[in-house]
Amino acid sequence: MSVTLVGAGPGDPGLITVRGLERLRACDAVVYDRLVSEELVDEAPDDALRICRDGLGQEQVDRLLVELGRELDVVRLKGGDPFVFGRGSEEIEVLRAAGIDCEVVPGVSSIAAVPAAAWIPVTHRGLSDRVTIATAHAADGAEPDYGGLARAGGTLVLFMGLSRLASLAAGLIDAGLPAETPAAVVSRGTLSDQEVVTGPLAELAESASELPGPALVVIGDVVALAGSLAPLATLSA
Ligand code: SAH
Repeated sequence: MSVTLVGAGPGDPGLITVRGLERLRACDAVVYDRLVSEELVDEAPDDALRICRDGLGQEQVDRLLVELGRELDVVRLKGGDPFVFGRGSEEIEVLRAAGIDCEVVPGVSSIAAVPAAAWIPVTHRGLSDRVTIATAHAADGAEPDYGGLARAGGTLVLFMGLSRLASLAAGLIDAGLPAETPAAVVSRGTLSDQEVVTGPLAELAESASELPGPALVVIGDVVALAGSLAPLATLSA
């Protein structure tokens, strides 16, 4: 009787880990997020309980995990990595407090995998020696720390920013990031309907606001490398 948090990877079902897939194939119940691919949920045994958490608040999810975890071997399948903007650590706190055995199987986070799927390396020797990740959508509704992000140097990877691209770009430019800094929005990264829009930071909102989510914002000189790294076929398509 236990709950295993499994990172499902960024979207493409082939990007779950070997261990994650093993746990999924052996579970009695799987509680999964809306963004997790159906193909992965189908990997659970035929007689396993399948529960999509869509529409449930976090407290309801916590309660569900505690109830199921007392009786069954549960896999909690989460997008990307469970501990990256995924509230996995909060779920572990609740499970620990209830005395339930927990395990975490890390996942391929969209942090680097989604830029990579758009041929953007988050670091590159001589171009970017650091990566700053941040959410554009703080739990308390506060604005991101634009000054800190603008001064960070290297590459910025911003989660949950699609709905506020204009204010993100304006905030960063006001805080000192050059308006022409190369930027990209990668929508539905690693999935078959992935879309990528690149351009100067100042023009990002205009060109990318209509893309479907989930989407990741990548800002920095590495974005300009995509053109030389992508296969020729991709560029001419
Ligand atoms: N735990 C996840 C992140 C969850 S927060 C991880 O490690 O990747 C959800 C945010 O992640 C989305 O709003 C988006 O910014 C980003 N994201 C997740 N999957 C994505 C994908 N396939 N393409 C683009 N962005 C993605």
